[in-house]
Amino acid sequence: MTVTHVERESESQQERPDQFGGPWGALALTIVMPTISFYLWSAVAQHGGSLWLPKSFSDLVAMVPRPTWAAAELFVAWLTLQAVLYIFGPGRVVLGRPTAHGERAEYRINGLFAFGVSTALLLGGIAGGFVSPRDVLAEWGPLLTFATLFAAVAAALSYVAGRRRGHLERSTGHPLYDFYMGTILNPTFGRLDLKFFFESRIGMASWGAFAILLPAAELQTHGSLSTAMLVVSLCQLFYIVDFFVFESTLLTMLDIIEENLGFMLWFAFLVWMPFNFTLQQQYVLTARPSLSIFAAIVILSLNFAGYYVFRDSNLQKQRFRRDPSCLVWGKPPVTMETARGTKLLISGWWGLARHTNYLGDLTMALAWCLASGFGSIVPYFYVLYFAPLLLNRERRDHAMCKRKYGDDWDRYCQRVPYRIVPFVY
Ligand code: NDP
Repeated sequence: MTVTHVERESESQQERPDQFGGPWGALALTIVMPTISFYLWSAVAQHGGSLWLPKSFSDLVAMVPRPTWAAAELFVAWLTLQAVLYIFGPGRVVLGRPTAHGERAEYRINGLFAFGVSTALLLGGIAGGFVSPRDVLAEWGPLLTFATLFAAVAAALSYVAGRRRGHLERSTGHPLYDFYMGTILNPTFGRLDLKFFFESRIGMASWGAFAILLPAAELQTHGSLSTAMLVVSLCQLFYIVDFFVFESTLLTMLDIIEENLGFMLWFAFLVWMPFNFTLQQQYVLTARPSLSIFAAIVILSLNFAGYYVFRDSNLQKQRFRRDPSCLVWGKPPVTMETARGTKLLISGWWGLARHTNYLGDLTMALAWCLASGFGSIVPYFYVLYFAPLLLNRERRDHAMCKRKYGDDWDRYCQRVPYRIVPFVY
């Protein structure tokens, strides 16, 4: 076990199923999330990037590709490589925040090394002719099916494991809801912290691998790289490498500190991130829209402006959490004392709005979609789903902070009235 038991509490933590529309909302999302992913894959792979109307239930069933042995082998090989790099790669071990039950998970921070080795192997394999991007893409549909099945089985197993533990971690007792939201905060498998591993080394690293394979497939098929493909993949790879440079900041994110590992996160890490976040490149590979150099420069500028807001605001909070007296934009920080003991920052980005980090992320998302042109709405999926996700996430974080800080949170909201966009929202 990589979880240290500092102290044990015997009482259960029973919660109300009040997120995402309760148990029925959770059931709907368990069905809708995979359906959307298969539909979008089908729109690009089978309908030239156009939306299509399923006429019957059998049309929906028919859009699910059959899993193949080749896809299973690719999936297992990638999973094994990432697990080996996580466990044996050089890197420091960091303890997570203590949970309500006094447990502290251990995380190996060596994502940059692991992603560097994976990228070198992938590029070396492509250059040496051992890996054919076109052949890997031929398994895209079966891989999607395989990853979905894996997510469903993993969610069922972690649900059962959570119910069998001595204490419950924010379970509600509603099987549908708990399957979706999860029953364990930090499940482990041997030396792997499953949530951290699957988010960072499978979700982010697979997204990165796809952002390399898709332009490589374009080059292999058409003999040249389109500007649109280059712009989207470069922006995304920059974002992914940046994520690994600052990998330890993941440990202060809501997914890690607050969310149990249920179907929602299993599916997000295994399917949603790598498959749906690369819809722009999948579309560009099929439709090959043209992008002028001027448009590319505008899009790159938008991307890096968004990146600056995203990274600087996240770093500001992280530094403040480490050292509450550190300078913010060159000045001593303006802070608010709370009864909980942790101060809140009310200057810098965190004085302009309560989540300017979301604004930066959304700006980048828009830039990546714009690179695909205006020929189809499918490549805009990323920003269209991400905007409501972050709006919802802000509301959920607001509710969690209200629980954590009580009246102090209301006082903070009065001092910083805007949620995401300063002076607007
Ligand atoms: P945040 O990093 O914004 O963390 C919220 C927490 O920060 C709060 O719960 C609170 O925790 C603390 N906090 C809030 N206000 C203050 C303040 N004024 N001063 C000090 N601490 C404060 O949330 P997320 O984890 O949602 O987002 C992190 C990043 O990840 C964002 O940039 C987001 O855009 C990105 N993201 C990307 C996703 C993707 O799919 N690409 C998905 C989700 C997020 P406490 O007080 O307990 O420390």
